[in-house]
Amino acid sequence: MKASPVHLVFGNAAFSDHEQVVFASDPASGLKAIIAIHSTALGPAMGGTRMRSYESEAAALKDALRLSRAMTYKNALAGVAFGGGKAVILGDPARAKSPALLRAFGRQVDTLAGRFVTGEDVGISMADVQEMRAATRHVRGIAEGRAGDPSPHTAFGVYKGIAAALEHRLGASKLRGITVCVQGLGHVGMALCDLLHDAGAELVVADIREAAVRQACERFGATAVEPATAHAADCDVFAPCALGGVLNERTIPEIRAGIVAGAANNQLERASDGELLKGYGILYAPDYVINAGGVISISHEGPDFDLGLMRRDVARIADTLVLIFKRAAEEDRATSAVADAIAEEKIKGAHPRSAAA
Ligand code: NAD
Repeated sequence: MKASPVHLVFGNAAFSDHEQVVFASDPASGLKAIIAIHSTALGPAMGGTRMRSYESEAAALKDALRLSRAMTYKNALAGVAFGGGKAVILGDPARAKSPALLRAFGRQVDTLAGRFVTGEDVGISMADVQEMRAATRHVRGIAEGRAGDPSPHTAFGVYKGIAAALEHRLGASKLRGITVCVQGLGHVGMALCDLLHDAGAELVVADIREAAVRQACERFGATAVEPATAHAADCDVFAPCALGGVLNERTIPEIRAGIVAGAANNQLERASDGELLKGYGILYAPDYVINAGGVISISHEGPDFDLGLMRRDVARIADTLVLIFKRAAEEDRATSAVADAIAEEKIKGAHPRSAAA
């Protein structure tokens, strides 16, 4: 059967009960965008805007739906008063992006009157968000009292998460004498190395950028390994901080670490890889829980911004992980499945639709 447009949206496997999906266009600037609002049960839907040239409109829709749903789960477990949403602008950012297009997009965001709050993502910079700001106030990451670059806060959350995983596994959160393999020495990975090194951990590092590897070896006395085999390094904790999909049927049997805890998004290639990690006795800190420091820092933006309060909330990522680890052990389930279940309970508990049911 040929897929009808309705089938493409409501029948899309990624649709997953989205509250609202907006298809926005502005012929004058060439804007074509999709704004997906998955859930406002816990607050306004918050998620970045991505600009990419997609192979098809269906691929753009799928990306928007998938990412928006993931933001609902992430924001729910981060304990921030936001639901989940995401927007994609279709087009090559290097060629199609213009101030007129960004403002036209801002006007579309504004029509949603605060139901959707956005910021930067792949292909959209802080300067672009500033341009959107001319047409809507419902953007984050550029306002007065902002927490600045989210990466150090993400790194701090991952660091706290690693300590929580060690405590759960070994009964002590001490990092001295523990070896951590950090895959990816970018904004988050390098800041994480700094924190781990200060706490006395031994570091094994990998990156495709040789200069970053050299810097980590010089600064932290780290040992370098090949990027392609970093997952198999001899260490206690494997911290993926580069790409998604690093945990899969091929890599998981080769992992020697007892703990996987890192910042990268979408680490599991498939949902079933969470089960596979459990089967190999590896304690997995679900990615969207441990890497929520950036989202938490953004949620604190505003005139009353307080760095201490923000850091306290980022540190609470450790408490959420402990809850997940304990429940997963009690119920003999994968930590990734338990994280999803807790997020769903929070969303259901807050949603007027379920209250009426
Ligand atoms: P980044 O682009 O600054 O760093 C990524 C690093 O990974 C780069 O140094 C790159 O050279 C390296 N890399 C790329 N391919 C590699 C490979 N095959 N093997 C080893 N290294 C490789 O990105 P970032 O901001 O540090 O984010 C890292 C990860 O964390 C991403 O998956 C990102 O989505 C996720 N994340 C980041 C934040 C944040 O606040 N920046 C928040 C949540 C999640």
